[in-house]
Amino acid sequence: RQNPVIATVGEILVEFVSHQKNCGLKTIADYSGPYPSGAPAIFLDQAARMGARTEMIGGVGDDGFGHAVLDRLNADGVGTRGVTVDDSRSTGTAFVSYYDDGSRDFIFHMAETASDHFKVPQGLLDLGQTILHVSAASLGNARMRGPILETMRAVDAAGGKICCDPNARPELMRDLAARDALEEAMERSTYLMPSTSDLDFLFPDLSEDAAIEKLLQSKAEIIVIKRGAAGATVVSGAERHEFRGHKVEEIDPTGAGDCFGGTFIALLAQGASLFEAGTMANAAGALAVTRRGPMEGNSAPSELARFLDAKKSESAT
Ligand code: ATP
Ligand code: MG
Repeated sequence: RQNPVIATVGEILVEFVSHQKNCGLKTIADYSGPYPSGAPAIFLDQAARMGARTEMIGGVGDDGFGHAVLDRLNADGVGTRGVTVDDSRSTGTAFVSYYDDGSRDFIFHMAETASDHFKVPQGLLDLGQTILHVSAASLGNARMRGPILETMRAVDAAGGKICCDPNARPELMRDLAARDALEEAMERSTYLMPSTSDLDFLFPDLSEDAAIEKLLQSKAEIIVIKRGAAGATVVSGAERHEFRGHKVEEIDPTGAGDCFGGTFIALLAQGASLFEAGTMANAAGALAVTRRGPMEGNSAPSELARFLDAKKSESAT
């Protein structure tokens, strides 16, 4: 397998971030944005920045928001031939506001926007040479679920690989169709990248090690456990790597998981070892939380190298 293309099918959004905490989007506050967003788009933008070949499949409106995020993806080298620019619908939006305990409230406007009304272009992907990333959050949208599952089955049947971030939010897990879709995506995945809270929702009765064992019993070869500020763990066969979280000032944690995943999969696709890919991804996730805006925290390889150098000299002194 030579330099596969990493692809995603899913939402492209812009996000507005409240500068006021603890008000749950209910009070008048200053916001900044439009920040480019959408979990699959954040993932793929970071994969492109790490040098991977990428194809984004999704939709934006032919409006300022749509062009803001499309311009960003293009500037960062994401393949956007599969992005539908729709002049009859507006771009999907998200609003976020944080609480002091780190939790957050979101309002999404995605249904019936350009973000969930796109076509998957035929012939864009060389299916057998594709790594398709499925972000479980997208499976909660009834309109996108079909195209995502179809693409996933086609990639799987052609000998390509599936990678899944099982963002198992409770509202998603209560939706039976979404839950079935997530189960199928996980069963077809070679790479699984749950966070610790995803494991709690998926396997409430299992210890973490038992949950990892269970995940490895199906098709998955590489499991990444994302631990927020505590770092991450990568498990594959007899290999296990622990990555301690870097000490950083957390400004905006949204997007860290996608940034981690995009870094990790992009490096593996280009032949890096699990240790190298995990080290860079753990640094990318840490850097991601230090900047406001979900995609603003994405980094180039040179920034990651500088960050890791600075951390090394910190720990040496
Ligand atoms: P998302 O909010 O995008 O869904 P997630 O829950 O999937 O994120 P996290 O565990 O929050 O994923 O973050 C992904 C990775 O980023 C972590 O495994 C870790 O490597 C890094 N990271 C996240 N938050 C911090 C932090 N506060 N300090 C240092 N590293 C962090
Ligand atoms: Mg998180």
